[in-house]
Amino acid sequence: MNAEIIAVGSELLLGQIANTNGQYISKQLASVGVDVYAHSVVGDNADRLYKTISDGFHRADLIILTGGLGPTKDDLTKDTVAKFCERQLVYDEEALAHIEAYFKRHNRTMTPNNKKQAYVIEGSHVLANRYGMAPGMVVELTNNKRIVLLPGPPSEMKPMFENELLPLLLGTNEKTSITSRVLHFFGIGESQLETDLEDLIENQVNPTIAPLASDGEVKLRLTVKHDNQAEIKRLLDETESLIMARVGTYLYGYDETTLVKEVSRYLHEQQLTLASAESLTGGLFSSELIALPNASAILKGSITAYTNDAKQALLSVSPQTLKEKGAVSEACAIEMATGVQRHLQSDIAISFTGVAGPDTQEGLEPGTVIVGLAMPGQEVRAIKLSLSGGRNAVRTRAVKYGFFYLLDELKRRNGSR
Ligand code: ATP
Ligand code: MG
Repeated sequence: MNAEIIAVGSELLLGQIANTNGQYISKQLASVGVDVYAHSVVGDNADRLYKTISDGFHRADLIILTGGLGPTKDDLTKDTVAKFCERQLVYDEEALAHIEAYFKRHNRTMTPNNKKQAYVIEGSHVLANRYGMAPGMVVELTNNKRIVLLPGPPSEMKPMFENELLPLLLGTNEKTSITSRVLHFFGIGESQLETDLEDLIENQVNPTIAPLASDGEVKLRLTVKHDNQAEIKRLLDETESLIMARVGTYLYGYDETTLVKEVSRYLHEQQLTLASAESLTGGLFSSELIALPNASAILKGSITAYTNDAKQALLSVSPQTLKEKGAVSEACAIEMATGVQRHLQSDIAISFTGVAGPDTQEGLEPGTVIVGLAMPGQEVRAIKLSLSGGRNAVRTRAVKYGFFYLLDELKRRNGSR
């Protein structure tokens, strides 16, 4: 199967927004073995859109369009695809009910043009939009060709792609079913991971192995095709154990997980509470935990103490440590963790101090980060990191490392390693 992606929207052509949808869809398709041969970007213009669809259609089995499904006049993707396929737009009761419910839930008044979103292309498979109003569509045409319409906003498009479209794409036209397993790694770079697995990746057939890197993390998506569920599991397990033998120490989870979700899960399971003392991360660490439900059961709180004065006043870091060792030191990180643990009466405490950059501080290079970790019944320890990237990349990475170390400790307590 080969695909082309068409992003619709004049703001893309004007350079006001980047075509991140194109990138996201390409990455997703690559990871399940669909070859993407071209990307196009076209403005909100019916004639040029028609031409772009028609050009792509001759070459590709699958055309995926994003954008232009909304209620306004410039949203013309649906009409144009309907015209191209020589099909009518028909009223979809379910889509209308969904739109009405959406307005009710958000306490907003529905304007007449919103009804436009309840029209779908006749005979198409409708994709539910859980995070917005406009439904997506899959139009099946002759020769197994398909045109897919997805909404423009990434917050609506991504869940629709993963939850509604991908299962459909993988399941159709094949007697065999296709199953993916995603392995999440942290602490190893993409190039190192690829080097370590080079022969496996090169000789991959079934399952295929696709690396995906983002924000300092690497994922591997294993995709297997088979008609027997037991065999699917066996093939995935077999490849996974080959991978684990080489880079298993960096694996932290499977499928839809993230570092923070894993940490949160272990804390809930082990009924432990946590507190954080944050200098350069400025609350980023606690904010990630608070973004998850039931955070109050595991997070006591966080103290952001940026200046030396604040570290003394809020975390009881000793003036002597600050003067003799500096704010970016193992000693300071340890005192920060001990301080927040005592003040907030938590089982576990973590602290972050470091140089986010761009300038050096106390003679230390930007990217120098120290994480302090206080686990129950253990001596408080500090881990020194040397991270790359700009100011905010350093801050986000520091947080990820924090979660990674914490997870390691929690797994050890669990006896699972
Ligand atoms: P809406 O109902 O919001 O009008 P829509 O399906 O009609 O959605 P557009 O109007 O084309 O989509 O785009 C809405 C917003 O979605 C854009 O302002 C932009 O923020 C985002 N968006 C659209 N296309 C892309 C893209 N290719 N990459 C990233 N973001 C996009
Ligand atoms: Mg729109």
